[in-house]
Amino acid sequence: MADDIRLPSYAVRPGVTFPDWAAVTSPQAREALLAIFDAIGAEKMWRSYTPAEDAVRTTLLRLYAEEGRAAAIGDLARHAGVSESAIGSHLASLKARDLVVLDADGGRIVGAYPWTDRETEHRVSLGERTLNALCAIDALGAGDMYGRDVEVHSSCRACGAPVTIATRDRGRAVADVQPGSAVVWSGIRQTDGCAADSMCTVIAFFCEDAHLASWRAQHHSETPGFRLSIDEALQAGRAVFGPSLAGLEVTP
Ligand SMILES: [Zn+2]
Repeated sequence: MADDIRLPSYAVRPGVTFPDWAAVTSPQAREALLAIFDAIGAEKMWRSYTPAEDAVRTTLLRLYAEEGRAAAIGDLARHAGVSESAIGSHLASLKARDLVVLDADGGRIVGAYPWTDRETEHRVSLGERTLNALCAIDALGAGDMYGRDVEVHSSCRACGAPVTIATRDRGRAVADVQPGSAVVWSGIRQTDGCAADSMCTVIAFFCEDAHLASWRAQHHSETPGFRLSIDEALQAGRAVFGPSLAGLEVTP
């Protein structure tokens, strides 16, 4: 496509770039992603991203799937083949890129997009584990990241009714949505270096368009954003998270 020229793309590792624009066929999903990348500062996120940082981050994401929660820093260092003295600086730089979330004193990992150790409304069943995703798009992108199907158990931000999604084709497509009227609101909010505490909180599921409309009228009527179908939100999630472990030998 001729307009691909304006689409930002950043090197992650040999043969892999962020985001995976090939996963995105919907113009609405593309526009939402462009707004998200603008708000999070995607260029800064990936500038001079190093193989050492990548090794730490990809190991952390693999351990998340195995253990269902963030690894202890010492365990992460051992699995990533990094010295205990070096792991701190790698985590600090990953935090500065807003690729991992640390607790207040930096002594503990509490999240790595799409995951958080906090309880959230977005529960993702991945094999025998159930993990908390930071937002609706993160939940929907997780399956493709691991090359596995997932079930997302979330709820309507307006009324609390259950919203569940199952994927097929190793996380690359929507298999089932309950209720069938469910949609995603991708709110756009400046992140100030931590999307987990800002933009992620306004990317949520709704059981139907009417509940999205009533919620927006009451809560975030001035926050810009994009209404996405579940399929469009899955495209966005794949674009963001598909590259996370792509091109590596083993996924859990
Ligand atoms: Zn509802």
